[in-house]
Amino acid sequence: MPLLEKSPQNTFELVSGLEIHVQLNTNTKIFSADSASFGALPNQNISTVSLALPGALPKLNKEVVAKAIRIGLALNCTINQVNHFDRKNYFYADLPKGYQITQDNQPICVNGFLEVQLSDGSTKKIGINRIHLEEDAGKSIHDQDENFSLVDLNRAGVPLIEIVTEPDIRSSEEASVLLSEIRKLVRHLDVSDGNMEEGSLRCDANISIRPQGTTEFGTRCEVKNLNSMRNVRRAMDFEFGRQVEVTNNGGRIIQSTLNFDADKGTTSPMRTKEEANDYRYFSDPDLQPIHISDEWLAEIKSLMPALPNEISQQMIAEFGISKADAALFAEDLDLLNYFNAAIAVVKNKKSLINWLIGPIRAVLNEKGITINDFKVNPSQLAEAINLVDDKKITQQIAVQQLLPALELQGNANVTGLAQSLNLLISENDDELSSFIDEVLNKYPQQVEAYKKGKKGVLGLFVGDVMKLAKGKADAKKLNELILEKLK
Ligand code: ADP
Ligand code: MG
Repeated sequence: MPLLEKSPQNTFELVSGLEIHVQLNTNTKIFSADSASFGALPNQNISTVSLALPGALPKLNKEVVAKAIRIGLALNCTINQVNHFDRKNYFYADLPKGYQITQDNQPICVNGFLEVQLSDGSTKKIGINRIHLEEDAGKSIHDQDENFSLVDLNRAGVPLIEIVTEPDIRSSEEASVLLSEIRKLVRHLDVSDGNMEEGSLRCDANISIRPQGTTEFGTRCEVKNLNSMRNVRRAMDFEFGRQVEVTNNGGRIIQSTLNFDADKGTTSPMRTKEEANDYRYFSDPDLQPIHISDEWLAEIKSLMPALPNEISQQMIAEFGISKADAALFAEDLDLLNYFNAAIAVVKNKKSLINWLIGPIRAVLNEKGITINDFKVNPSQLAEAINLVDDKKITQQIAVQQLLPALELQGNANVTGLAQSLNLLISENDDELSSFIDEVLNKYPQQVEAYKKGKKGVLGLFVGDVMKLAKGKADAKKLNELILEKLK
């Protein structure tokens, strides 16, 4: 921070807590059977409930509650088995009821934490104050008509959870790592697509500063609607610098709500505390409190998948792979499922891992596809790997010829296809032997040189014999045969 360098007499610490809005990926809205999908034509998914017509009553979508509990458990929260909805009253064109249904003083999850890993290798535990359920508002569109603002109510009533952290964050890195971990978790648990560009995950950052070494919190400002990891970092770094500058110039931070301008990288005031809304919260009389039974909670717990960190630790312990490689499986459920399906057939699990993080990943990257679109199914890949491990085909031919052929042929039998394409390693030692003779005859000088101690030429012989064998020779065996002849 250049601003800090200017004033070494006063160094400040950043203090921040995030409010993270996550759009849940349920089929229908939180209080109606309207589709909750993104991208429909304007005002297509709007029943009487979304339109707030008189007499229309909300009916809670149970799946929303289940998803909130899942993420709450993953964030080590206590689940409030009795919780209820409140009305948050304000007037806006895209909020037809005149209030948003949310949770105020009795949210569904409380008192959790998440431990995140920072780039310097250290870990940081960040408290989760609460997670509450709420509905999204509609969307006002101001830039499509010269004279009118347009309102699209498709989003009205789409389920959200808001995850509120404790003010435990001390750097923009901690904030963006936390957000990225939460995005991984919501995807892993199938709670949300976590797509920041489409607004499925967005966050408000509360930021204050205090002199290094002190414990009292300063006055905070809240930067609204940050929609990318990068913007969270930029907004936080800018806001920190601004507050330090104001303070060092003898000014006072005024509690306020700010916008972040992504083009300029700056924050600017939306409203101050004096202008803040009074939402007049009260519990919603149209909705009964939510009662989560012990049985249901136990069932949800029993259906929780292993979390990314657990998967990654388990894979490191079991297969001795690196943290980065383990993360590939921990963070990609599809890859993990593929792996688990192939395990039943493959003889050597470690080979399977090596294939998935090596050649298979390279193939997927080259094609720009995910494992889901890979046409070779898990048991076929496992059989191909078994052929390589049994020295019936070379890895190179398996990757370059057998897999592409399998991709084209649907559910072909692996060994059968390898045979019919003549890809298997030649068992015919006589043939190999004649190839070796041919090559050694071709290079009399080099054979001389080898015998005088220039061992490096061996590679030349191996390469040439391999060419004659069209790659279908076991390299180790080939080496042995050549060495035998050179004696
Ligand atoms: P409100 O309900 O007024 O928004 P909350 O207590 O719910 O206030 O806090 C909202 C967010 O602000 C939380 O994420 C919290 O961690 C964070 N926060 C609270 N005080 C501070 C502070 N002094 N500096 C930075 N963040 C803060
Ligand atoms: Mg708040």
